[in-house]
Amino acid sequence: MEYDLVLRGARIVEGSGLPSYLADVGVKGGKIVEIGRIGGRAGRTLDLDGLALAPGFIDHHTHLDAQMLWDPYGTSEPQHGVTSIVMGNCGLTLAPVKPGDEDALVKSFVRVEAIPRFALEKGVSWGWHTFGDYLDRLEGKIGINVGGLVGHIAVRQYVMGEESVERQATPAEVEQMRRLVREAMAGGALGISTNRNERHMREDGKPVPSRLADDEELFTLCDVLGELNAGVIETILGRNRIEHFELYGRLAGRTQRPIIWQSVQHRWTQPNFWREQLDAVGAIFRDGYRAYGLSHTVPLVRHFCLKNTQVFDEFPTWKSIMFLPEETRREAFADPATREQLRADLADPRPTNFHRRWDIVRVEKVKRPENQKFVGKSVAEVARMRNQDPLDSFLDLSLEEDLETTFWNANSGGDPEAMGEILRSPYVLVGTSDAGAHVQFGADFGYSTTLLGLWVRERGIMNLEQAVRKLTFEVASIYGLEGRGLVRPGYAADLVVFDPKTVCAHEPEWAEDYPAGTRRLVQRSEGVYYTIVNGQVIYQDGRYTGELPGQILRGPLYQERQAAAA
Ligand SMILES: [Zn+2]
Repeated sequence: MEYDLVLRGARIVEGSGLPSYLADVGVKGGKIVEIGRIGGRAGRTLDLDGLALAPGFIDHHTHLDAQMLWDPYGTSEPQHGVTSIVMGNCGLTLAPVKPGDEDALVKSFVRVEAIPRFALEKGVSWGWHTFGDYLDRLEGKIGINVGGLVGHIAVRQYVMGEESVERQATPAEVEQMRRLVREAMAGGALGISTNRNERHMREDGKPVPSRLADDEELFTLCDVLGELNAGVIETILGRNRIEHFELYGRLAGRTQRPIIWQSVQHRWTQPNFWREQLDAVGAIFRDGYRAYGLSHTVPLVRHFCLKNTQVFDEFPTWKSIMFLPEETRREAFADPATREQLRADLADPRPTNFHRRWDIVRVEKVKRPENQKFVGKSVAEVARMRNQDPLDSFLDLSLEEDLETTFWNANSGGDPEAMGEILRSPYVLVGTSDAGAHVQFGADFGYSTTLLGLWVRERGIMNLEQAVRKLTFEVASIYGLEGRGLVRPGYAADLVVFDPKTVCAHEPEWAEDYPAGTRRLVQRSEGVYYTIVNGQVIYQDGRYTGELPGQILRGPLYQERQAAAA
């Protein structure tokens, strides 16, 4: 047999969770056609010498709806092994849209997802109407595979116009919304997303439209998916509460569709809440319904010094001192009476994001050589070494170094034991790259390379095969992406080649690659050698090849319609 591409001598981590094994993989016509010892001729051969070969990762929580229109790779996705993305999360989509209503959708993207307005105005050339039209616009112009959920915000805006941010819908309006959801599913949507986050508003300060939907509207729209036996329901209800599981249970039971809820994470301020969440969702699964929690693999780390930090902004005395000029700030930190106030701030029992634990905050970098012995130690340990109270120790060390001591802190995702239990749970999906959103505040494209590097190699919370299954087969199964997510004959040749010994994510860095040179954060990786989409190499050794083999991932209804028409 002749092949377009042969990957020789790979260690195949096939995506099912089964143990990895050595083999060659033959690719033809964009599909995997043979696995084993391959002797035939090939258009191109890559000698992999035992590197890991896995199905391409599927990043299902993105906001790349706009970016895909100007960036065919969804940069920096392929650098982290991603070959398919799902956009349209959290209720936000660019379709369906009525002519004249475009800016109402932009208002939500600008505020909720922090995408610069200027980039959206320059980069999005509107002109579509239905969700299917919008997907058509991307056809043939993308380097990775793209699927999308239809957003409740766009659907509500379409039917109710500006009243969508002011009132409940009438039964007739809900009926029109149901028609739009049905139309979007027929056009290829992979499901529906909604948003009730109490902090999510538009640029003009009005709540996003979906927040005004009552349970009846939400359930009636999701019923469409139940009637069609297709699609996932993605939700964000806002600040995590245990009462939410009542709603997830009802919705999952009523529609019998998979629900994905945000989110389950370990936080030091509520160190056992994740366990309560997993117990609550376990009951739903035991009843026979699916409600997957979305989790994050990237600890929310802040590197800070007392020159500029916002870590303590939720404490009034700390905040006011941080706004003082440096000279006065140093005097305040040295003053015993002010220290008592700082101490009192931290002792206030009201809930905060900062965990107030000096055994977690670590010294990362020091200015003076004699303080080198404190590097890597927690503030609590430093206090013991200096025979001091931790708060005094923290402030004195900073003052000795002109406030230039750098500290490390993580409010969430920092406890390896909890993270292990969360990420291993069969009820938890990994994701939350949020790619395409918050582009000037962070970049978590590397949720996959962080899982493989930090959590698998360094912390050993699961093995490589389990981690790859989390990133591939599980997502493909839940989202109904047929023929993807495994390295098996007949499956799409969406593949990533990486070195398990070195794979990791770099720190985000600035780029000016958004429309009109708008600045945003991108992220490189280490140890990812090739990313292959539908049999074509799109990323190799740090560079994009320029190939555009990406396909639109359309749901089953679209496929049926196409088959019937043919
Ligand atoms: Zn989101």
